[in-house]
Amino acid sequence: MSDLAVDGGHDPLVAAVDWGGTWIRVAAVSGGRIVRKDRRAKPQSLAEQYATVADMVLRTTAHLAQPPTAVGVGLAGVIQEGIVGTAHNLGFTDGTDIAAALRPHLPLPTYLLNDVQATALGVAARWPHGTTAVLTMGTGVGGAVIKDGSLDPGLGGAGDFGHVVIDVDGPICPCGSTGCLERLVSGRTLAEAANALAEAGLSPLLAARARTGRVLHAGDLQDAAQDGDSRAAEILSRSAVALCAGMRTIVATLDPHRIVLAGTPLSPNTWLGRAVLTQWDLTRPRWARTELHHVIEDEDAALLGAASFALDKFTAAPGGS
Ligand SMILES: [Zn+2]
Repeated sequence: MSDLAVDGGHDPLVAAVDWGGTWIRVAAVSGGRIVRKDRRAKPQSLAEQYATVADMVLRTTAHLAQPPTAVGVGLAGVIQEGIVGTAHNLGFTDGTDIAAALRPHLPLPTYLLNDVQATALGVAARWPHGTTAVLTMGTGVGGAVIKDGSLDPGLGGAGDFGHVVIDVDGPICPCGSTGCLERLVSGRTLAEAANALAEAGLSPLLAARARTGRVLHAGDLQDAAQDGDSRAAEILSRSAVALCAGMRTIVATLDPHRIVLAGTPLSPNTWLGRAVLTQWDLTRPRWARTELHHVIEDEDAALLGAASFALDKFTAAPGGS
């Protein structure tokens, strides 16, 4: 556990939990700043996970200037009005009420949200006004809609931009649709493309890297394009077209003040990041005034977003969910 700053005591103290597949991270947040945080490996059983989360929250918020008013929990899964829609990666069955399960260990108002929504809310904190659509790219593609600094999840899944349909004849998606944005471009698809090019011997740079025994990732494909590999460049170029088609849908649906691209593969200093900027200039709706921004999210964004969500919910309905 680490103390990062002294709690000023004026703003409410909120506990934030980032409940991931490998780690559980907890922070005490006040005034939009992390004042103390902790991290532990996720135990196997659900019973141990509940006990661990509760213990971490109580320890992380102990002996600060005030007790926590609420707990915000971001986890990998679909969360609909506090109830787990699906969170198979963590072992929860559909319909689990995690706040209710935590309550015997942790008698505090507890509010749940999807972990990507939590990260998006954290990275969008610098834009407290207007509508912000955050599109995040990691292994998959996700995002969130934020209005005047608060998450607008609809019934739960608004902003899940990875499942905007780009190609109705495209590959089948686990969500039940075809040609979803995430099936066409994501950290996973770019890594698969890099490994396929290496295996087929179509890229000297990628083949050389694969010979070291390393599994290639999206950054390798970007390096190959940067190095002049035309096949890698073509894949990234098509990826930029798909992303910009998805962004047009975002503009048509929300006409947001800004789209914020989050995630290393979309950085403006990468081949794909530059291709997206060029493609967006060519294909954006002429009438659109939506600004395009890029941020690098760090691991604190999910914690700050979960805290912000909990404070919003607590202020609206102090009883908890
Ligand atoms: Zn899908």
